[in-house]
Amino acid sequence: MFERLNENTWHFEEPDVRFFLLEGEKEAMLLDSGKITADAREQAQAVTEKPLFLLNTHADLDHVRSNYEFETFYMHPSEAFNYYKRFKGTGEFLPLHDGQIFDLGGRPLEVILLAGHTPGSVALLDINARTLFCGDVLGENYNIFLFGQHREIHAYLNSLKKLEGMMDRFDRIYPSHGVLEIGPGHIPVLREGVEKILRGEGSYVLTERYNTTVRRYDLGLAGLLCDNE
Ligand SMILES: [Zn+2]
Repeated sequence: MFERLNENTWHFEEPDVRFFLLEGEKEAMLLDSGKITADAREQAQAVTEKPLFLLNTHADLDHVRSNYEFETFYMHPSEAFNYYKRFKGTGEFLPLHDGQIFDLGGRPLEVILLAGHTPGSVALLDINARTLFCGDVLGENYNIFLFGQHREIHAYLNSLKKLEGMMDRFDRIYPSHGVLEIGPGHIPVLREGVEKILRGEGSYVLTERYNTTVRRYDLGLAGLLCDNE
């Protein structure tokens, strides 16, 4: 069920992921479509009467459950392989690009490409509200997945640096997992932690995910799950 976050923003909490509904004066955007919720579109349309479209922060399975309800949706092209080939997703994706602006009507949203967790992960900057919807790029009380074929820690570090350079543009961050609202101060902490890992200085414990042994680095606010190699 969508819960109101403020005048024109709602969040939908599933057991371990959330997604958002953003409304402008002309249009509304569903930002991801859930993991177990199969009628996100209907539920969003019960909240807003504005024409609704879908944008995915990325194509991991916990973010695309209700995509099938849409004939088209926005996604970065680098997610298409996972979406169609690995996950057998349906519908037609409309390609996003870095810096693209979606104006919902008095509410411009800027796409920020942040590769690493997945190759085409994007965040959305709600420019006037100085709010960042970051997908899985950041999180608190949450393990950020960076192991496996399509995840890349060097790209992730680059994305954290990119976000750090934009920190004067937002005051609050809404991630898709863990704590609902976090602050920008989170970004340098994670960036320093990732740099330490890449220098070989991070301490980790071994744990299991999807029958794979991975390293869990504790970065304080969040954990980072990395390949064990
Ligand atoms: Zn996720």
